[in-house]
Amino acid sequence: SREILLAARPDGEPVESDFRLVPTELPDPEPGQVLVRNLVMSVDPYMRGRMNDVPSYVPPWQLGEPVDGGAVGEVIASAAPELPVGSLVLHGLGWREHALLPAAQARRLEPLEGLSSSRYLGVLGMPGLTAYAGLFEVGAFQPGDAVFVSGAAGAVGSLVGQFARLRGAGRVVGSAGSADKVRYLTEELSFDAAFDYHDGPVRTLLREAAPDGIDVYFDNVGGEHLEAAIGAFRLRGRAALCGAISSYNDTEPAPGPRNLALAIGKRLTLRGFLVGDHGQLRDEFAGAVRGWLRSGKLVARETVTIGLDNAVPAFIGMLRGANTGKMVVRLADD
Ligand code: NDP
Repeated sequence: SREILLAARPDGEPVESDFRLVPTELPDPEPGQVLVRNLVMSVDPYMRGRMNDVPSYVPPWQLGEPVDGGAVGEVIASAAPELPVGSLVLHGLGWREHALLPAAQARRLEPLEGLSSSRYLGVLGMPGLTAYAGLFEVGAFQPGDAVFVSGAAGAVGSLVGQFARLRGAGRVVGSAGSADKVRYLTEELSFDAAFDYHDGPVRTLLREAAPDGIDVYFDNVGGEHLEAAIGAFRLRGRAALCGAISSYNDTEPAPGPRNLALAIGKRLTLRGFLVGDHGQLRDEFAGAVRGWLRSGKLVARETVTIGLDNAVPAFIGMLRGANTGKMVVRLADD
């Protein structure tokens, strides 16, 4: 079997030589453990933070040690009666072809009829719950609200915009990094308006896309986008601060929004959140999303990369916008 190690800490944008693909042994499970053949693994923006040796809400990856992250796999050897051979499981030991782990650290999954197991890493998984909790709980979305989401063609953002539309948003506006993505948003995901943030100052582009202002901003990007949203907010606007990917490769802290004082007069709420604190919404979220998927009302594209050899390029590509929808790495067929 093979796995990927962290070989170096990147300075700025990660490069392939920051990682190393190495062979590993496949030990037998000890009592309480299972051996899992990984079918699909996730590459996520937060992993960029784990490459830095700084304290954070997830500990840094260690140099020379295997890296990890979300994965779905099939139990192929078991010394834990609750997870027999053949079980489909979600667990945290991606970036490797096989994973040996305590059964208690794996969650058993129902096989999805007609859907790929990778859905548990995207629309039915962590990014999906992030979108749901961030919009409805953190952003306190109300029907009729005008919603702006950045990173709108990505895993989280593409769901935020659609959830807002499905629950009766007054207007849904998104920003993304290419003309193709903008077309995807307006033509396939039914956003009311979208723009490519490379096409001018975000402030100007947002004013054109949402001339009457916005009530909710779902922030995946930070920086200039957040400043533009603060400017565009109506009274009592709410920002769900989910991510700040525009700064993840920065080597110096980025300046904050220069117009933050507007938050006072507009009585804004700017609220950061982590999906891990919103697990109590999981059942409600899964019920809603499964219904929308079944009825064809929700579109959830994936960008699939094949093979562990291509996992690092997939991760680096995702940080640069190579994905539309969720980026996953397929390691074996379902
Ligand atoms: P995406 O699928 O959205 O992939 C990342 C995207 O970021 C790229 O496709 C790219 O799209 C965009 N991007 C990269 N650089 C920039 C930049 N400088 N400015 C604007 N956009 C940029 O990832 P996810 O949906 O998984 O994650 C989205 C955000 O949500 C991230 O910030 C992530 O950290 C955060 N997150 C937070 C969680 C929480 O609990 N708070 C949980 C999960 C995710 P483009 O072509 O449009 O530039």
